[in-house]
Amino acid sequence: MELNQLTIHELQEKIKNGQTSATQVIESVFNRIDVVEERVHSYIRLMKDEALAAAKKADEDIKKGDIKPLTGIPVALKDIVCTKSITTTCGSHILHNFVPPYDATVVEKLRDAGAVFVGKANMDEFAMGSSTETSCFGVTRNPWDLTRIPGGSSGGSATAVAADECIASIGSDTGGSIRQPAALCGVVGLKPTYGRVSRFGLIAFASSLDQIGPFTKDVEDCAIMMNVLAGYDPRESTSVQTEVPDYRQFVGKGIAGWKIGIPKEYFIEGIDPEVAAAIKKAIAVIEKCGGQCVDISLPHTEYCLAVYYIIAPAEASSNLARYDGVKYGYRTSEARDLLDMYKKTRTQGFGTEVKRRIMIGTYALSSGYYDAYYKKASQVRALIKHDFAEALKKCDVILTPTTPTPAFKIGEKTDNPLQMYLSDLFTISSNLAGIPGISVPCGFTAAGLPVGMQFLAGHFEEGKLIQIASAYEKNANIEKRRPQL
Ligand code: GLN
Repeated sequence: MELNQLTIHELQEKIKNGQTSATQVIESVFNRIDVVEERVHSYIRLMKDEALAAAKKADEDIKKGDIKPLTGIPVALKDIVCTKSITTTCGSHILHNFVPPYDATVVEKLRDAGAVFVGKANMDEFAMGSSTETSCFGVTRNPWDLTRIPGGSSGGSATAVAADECIASIGSDTGGSIRQPAALCGVVGLKPTYGRVSRFGLIAFASSLDQIGPFTKDVEDCAIMMNVLAGYDPRESTSVQTEVPDYRQFVGKGIAGWKIGIPKEYFIEGIDPEVAAAIKKAIAVIEKCGGQCVDISLPHTEYCLAVYYIIAPAEASSNLARYDGVKYGYRTSEARDLLDMYKKTRTQGFGTEVKRRIMIGTYALSSGYYDAYYKKASQVRALIKHDFAEALKKCDVILTPTTPTPAFKIGEKTDNPLQMYLSDLFTISSNLAGIPGISVPCGFTAAGLPVGMQFLAGHFEEGKLIQIASAYEKNANIEKRRPQL
């Protein structure tokens, strides 16, 4: 196996034993990028010079015996987290020239842990989308089938891990943007509890739903990344001050006697038969591990999409008001006066999906409609949260498919936003409730497309997710395949 194909924990062993160096690891990653990146397009920007310098520094540290949790590990960053002095675009023309004056907290934490940044990963514009087709820098392709989408909005972060163009990566998840692309690309993706990971320096889409989380090649790596990412940040007012466990202790622990909630509302007609079959097989593995399945109900599930598509656009319309040509990024060169400058900057700077969301959100928040839409949606959101609280009294974790279908064709849903929105049918509810969720690979379709299974748990119970996902991973004997590129 090549170095770029290994996991964090495998590389850590080799680095500790002196079998390899950080420089050799990053070189193998860039060799891979040279071969596949043109076809996959995981990255908006590569950071080769910075990465080589960071790897050299890591090798000096290693020589001194100073080895931190991610020393020499190549990590990709979704282009939504601010990187000091390095362009951060959010996949949008309106930020194509934006150079942040500071690092996001997660960037600081990863760097302090010894990570080597490979580049900024492609994404749907402002994280609005499920296919990484709305980036102004072009589409990202699924490494398992280059005619298909990788999922979104963190598509580039998912493909970079799946195609071995990095070892782990960072994404953000507002309604499924880590878990859905993880499922469609055959990697592990975790959305932490709201408040678990600092959002400082994360460009805001919908502030009450956004969370940052990792993409990794296996569950142990997910635990290693969470150890670095999680924790209180005084610079972020919704970050929660509660103890962070060592997530690695949950790996390999087993789940004998656990109750696994199977929500009837998530096993509906319309799920792709091959996805349904893969999940059925996975449930049998969970039972073999000692998990006991119990039927549960999340009665307000049918309202999740509608509630999300009021609340997320409402918050987005407010968050995106700051892009007016004055303070950040792009400004039109053709303005007659101030108002005309605002209008033209936003007309030219934003893409169609972002404009659609701003208009929906502005409408939902307008004085005549606020009670009918935003207020009503917030009330139903409370009911959805209550559903989970009740259901989680009856079980330790909840099991669902991550997505209703495997990866679809590029262009297949671009003209039909409502069809596109259905991709997140199973992931959106946990953002509304603020609870954590993980997607783990659970097999392939006959055509060789990955399928993902999702586990959900109560607030701050990421440890449980890692425990069950690792038990599943160990016992499932999923064939080890790599995309043929
Ligand atoms: N696909 C969903 C949307 O378009 C979720 C995106 C996300 O999680 N960032 O809003």
